[in-house]
Amino acid sequence: MPGAGSQEYTKLTDDTDFQINAEDLRDGFSAEEMFAGQTGLTYKDFIVLPGFIDFHPSEVDLDTQLTRDLRIKKPLISSPMDTVTEDRMAIAMALTGGIGIIHYNNTIEQQRDLILKVKRFKNGFITDPIVLSPRNTIEDVYTIKARFGFSGIPITEDGTRNGKLIGIVTNRDVDLEKDRTLTLDRVMTKDLVTVREGIPLAEANEILKSSKKGKLPIVNEKGQLVSLICRTDIKKHREYPDASKDSQKRLMVGAAISTKLEARDRLEALIEAGVDVVVVDSAQGNSHYQIELLQYMKKHYPEVQIIAGNVVTMDQCYNLIKAGADALRIGMGPGSICITQDTMAVGRAQATAVYQTAKFARRYNVPVIADGGISNIGDIAVALAIGASTTMMGSMFAGTSEAPGEYFYENGVRLKRYRGMASLEAMEAGGAKRYFSEDLDIKVAQGVTGAVVDKGSMFQYVPYLVQGLKQSFQDMGVKSIPELHEQMAQGKVRFERRSLSAQAQGTVHGLYSYTSPVVGASRREK
Ligand code: GDP
Ligand code: 5GP
Repeated sequence: MPGAGSQEYTKLTDDTDFQINAEDLRDGFSAEEMFAGQTGLTYKDFIVLPGFIDFHPSEVDLDTQLTRDLRIKKPLISSPMDTVTEDRMAIAMALTGGIGIIHYNNTIEQQRDLILKVKRFKNGFITDPIVLSPRNTIEDVYTIKARFGFSGIPITEDGTRNGKLIGIVTNRDVDLEKDRTLTLDRVMTKDLVTVREGIPLAEANEILKSSKKGKLPIVNEKGQLVSLICRTDIKKHREYPDASKDSQKRLMVGAAISTKLEARDRLEALIEAGVDVVVVDSAQGNSHYQIELLQYMKKHYPEVQIIAGNVVTMDQCYNLIKAGADALRIGMGPGSICITQDTMAVGRAQATAVYQTAKFARRYNVPVIADGGISNIGDIAVALAIGASTTMMGSMFAGTSEAPGEYFYENGVRLKRYRGMASLEAMEAGGAKRYFSEDLDIKVAQGVTGAVVDKGSMFQYVPYLVQGLKQSFQDMGVKSIPELHEQMAQGKVRFERRSLSAQAQGTVHGLYSYTSPVVGASRREK
């Protein structure tokens, strides 16, 4: 039968000329039938048959379960890789409705600072604003700007967060001053617009708007600083209604940790910084290291949501779910930079891995993340159609301006570097923790270093992906991810294997040249 919304279609059966047994219309195969064979499949090996359309793409809701307890509005996650997710990527992901996972190829302090930058980026009330004392210098303001990205800093009498507010320093107080050793009492603005503690956010925003200032400090009856609101946040709030936010209206962010002992100290620092979800990052997740770590986390930080992995089989899932996983990350070897399957001969074809693990984890209400090997909107749609609740991307996002690293040109094409975390280069910088090979003298790479084409900004790219996904859901005849999963499980979403020539026919062919339609990419002739 076709997908949801098939009333019009079934109405035809009222007419005796068109009465037909539903079985006679059953075309294609259920997911269960399709994955029953002995051959591992991946995304391009099959296709979803069209359903029935009686709604507009704007009615499609992509809201989804990230973990048992956390939801996000779009099923998109940026991978914890050092050429993909740092603060700028995580901010862009959260603002556009997904989530970014900050990598751990850095020191604990560096990773904690990246988390802090995201958590501080967009706030209603900033309850722990950075403050300085009148005896600090202009140089200190620049240090804060370099570390956190802002320069509007309240000045309290004693330089403590809840001290008496006596002024504010903004960019305009310091930008033309050449002598950076000047103390802030010489340059700060003392004539302040403030409001009293307890004021609702909407009202405070109105006052901030009419004051035409950039910052509005909130003070208590003793004149001590309580919190701060920023003009830029009012604008951001208006532009990103789908932003992934925590209960304090701060952007959501994840962080990856290894299964090494070091992870426990890292975890503590990340949780203190306000991380929303922790990814235990291991190429083969079914290990006693990971199980012990999950048990430790559940015992000491029961409120923290954990994404465990990576796994590709049901018994791997079973061990991690039993140890407390709140979501599972699926994929061993499908990544674009990955040579694990070649080198180790261990792994699984990605679509089969996603389908089998999602089917199993569904019994325990544990959502799965399809991680790696996703190269376009169609792959995302297919991964969701076979049971994934979210998708994780590396190469697709690595070429955007929000990914770490600088652009460079090769043969006239604008590129960014992208490397596997198990490439020799990344392992030397600390990435070997993911592969149990940190302590080994001889390192065998399971990833490569390469480059990807410029994709422009995430702020254009994500809306493009989202719009494409909505249209894909419309073609499938389903309006939401839970509905898609339900219909897939009941065998109502129909699939079909594709021969190699069908795959070739299903993509651009027979043209001398064409222009890639990818949004933001430097439009390139092929
Ligand atoms: P500034 O004018 O250089 O201070 O920067 P903006 O006001 O344009 O942007 C500051 C951004 O940083 C806003 O989104 C704030 O919510 C965020 N932020 C987070 N924590 C703090 C903080 O302690 N102080 C300030 N000034 N901004 C913060
Ligand atoms: P992509 O989206 O580029 O196809 O795949 C990204 C995913 O590949 C990551 O989320 C991670 O699971 C995996 N990955 C990252 N680096 C490496 C690596 O060096 N080797 C392997 N085997 N997988 C990697």
